[in-house]
Amino acid sequence: MGSLHKHRGEVALEALPDDAVRSLVTRFHGDVLRPSDEGYEDARAVWNGMIDRYPALVARCAGVADVVAAVNFARDHDLPLAVRGGGHNVAGTAVCDGGVVVDLAEMNGVRVDREEGTVRAEGGATLGDVDRETQRFGLATALGAVSQTGIAGLTLNGGYGHLSREHGLALDNLVSVDIVTADGQVRTASEKRNEDLFWAVRGGGGNLGVVSAFEYDLHEVGPEVYAFFVWFHGDDADAALAAFREWTETAPRNAGVLAFTAHVPELEEFPERTWGEPAVAFLGSARGDLEEAPAVYDPLREVATPIADMSGTIAYVDLQSMLDEDYPDGLRYYWKSVFLEELTDEVFDLMVRYNDSAPSGLSTIDCWHLGDAVADVPRDATAFWHRDKPYMLTVEANWEEPDDDDANVNWAREVFADVQSLPIASGRYGNFPGMNEDPVKLLYGDNYDRLVAVKTTYDPENLFRSNANVAPRTTGA
Ligand code: FAD
Repeated sequence: MGSLHKHRGEVALEALPDDAVRSLVTRFHGDVLRPSDEGYEDARAVWNGMIDRYPALVARCAGVADVVAAVNFARDHDLPLAVRGGGHNVAGTAVCDGGVVVDLAEMNGVRVDREEGTVRAEGGATLGDVDRETQRFGLATALGAVSQTGIAGLTLNGGYGHLSREHGLALDNLVSVDIVTADGQVRTASEKRNEDLFWAVRGGGGNLGVVSAFEYDLHEVGPEVYAFFVWFHGDDADAALAAFREWTETAPRNAGVLAFTAHVPELEEFPERTWGEPAVAFLGSARGDLEEAPAVYDPLREVATPIADMSGTIAYVDLQSMLDEDYPDGLRYYWKSVFLEELTDEVFDLMVRYNDSAPSGLSTIDCWHLGDAVADVPRDATAFWHRDKPYMLTVEANWEEPDDDDANVNWAREVFADVQSLPIASGRYGNFPGMNEDPVKLLYGDNYDRLVAVKTTYDPENLFRSNANVAPRTTGA
């Protein structure tokens, strides 16, 4: 059934000169989707079902020349512009109302250079696209932990995953990027070229331009690793979380663990009598000598009798996709993060207490162990600031029904307000930004002013603002 009201995409499109749109569409090698086109509805949808925006055009780029054309079009017609990598940012900034989406989904080529020990991936590639190719050679770069996530958003804002305590953030592994800046120029940024841009891109999110390709360093990983995945009943949470704190204090760099509170899923891997009960779980992995790997986790595994122990040797690509099903497209999500200087009993109490009161059994409160290779890099070496923090707490509200939006968002905000009030909590991580409602300065600490300076050089009119926006000096803000 048609609607009497035009949506913002239709209104914005109507305001554009027909010949300009026609000329863009004709010269474009990929597809330019307008609101009336088949495929538009799918193209405007992102991973988070909470997001419902209507762009005027979705420019599905086939190559760098298309990216340039789309950027120039948005700038010349003074339209909002959003950049879509993997479409998995929880704030939904990959899509905008009434503007142009520079959609890189079709630009997902990956090429491994074995001689150089590097991989080059286009800006729309997912973690799965990259791991699949690099693992053919027993290599990997440090990315995140869910294969459907885009490398672009993940890398530009940081990138924590199984390898980060040994090999750093995803952005620490960058060798170079190709980037289309607001003036429509294609630039390469590396330690040797456009160094200021390279500094800023590593942590500056999507503020500097459209990255059409990322080049990363590779490391020998797998192809088999040891996965540690153990669930305990919530009654054992105190003991389990205390053991986690102790374990992280001496953990080897080639092993890692994330601890989270959750509810036992209704899956055959878990005893039926525990379904829906509160739980605490560990997910981690170890590389190196796989015979010795299980013992690395004994202090955690032996803390109580697990409800389920799904640990074992596993292909690295399978480790990277084992959580995929837990985060389907279109579910409703609200995720927020804060860094922690240490793990106190208050943090654990909060993880347990708010888990009990969560309106949705799908939600979790996650405690990440960071540090080591991430902390080895000086804080002013890249725009990414919060390297010194050994832990991060993320509140992940996940639910199904739109009617439950308020209850779940409010719950996450309550948890967050309580954690944030602890003296050990500070900063924000750009990849779990809620709806980007917090001041962007919280991401950047003392790097903020330098980032503003680089932004002012490359994007003085703030074309790239559909993100956690670092405003250039010229626009005030
Ligand atoms: P998109 O939504 O496509 O883009 C987000 C923003 O990034 C855009 O608005 C734009 O500003 C910018 N952007 C995207 N592509 C480009 C580009 N090519 N050039 C310039 N700017 C661009 N994070 C971790 O650190 N570790 C994890 O293990 C982890 N696991 C996750 C699991 C799931 C299921 C999800 C949904 C997220 C996870 N994250 C993790 C967070 C993830 O890193 C962010 O959601 C990230 O922003 C996703 O990147 P994307 O390319 O899919 O984002």
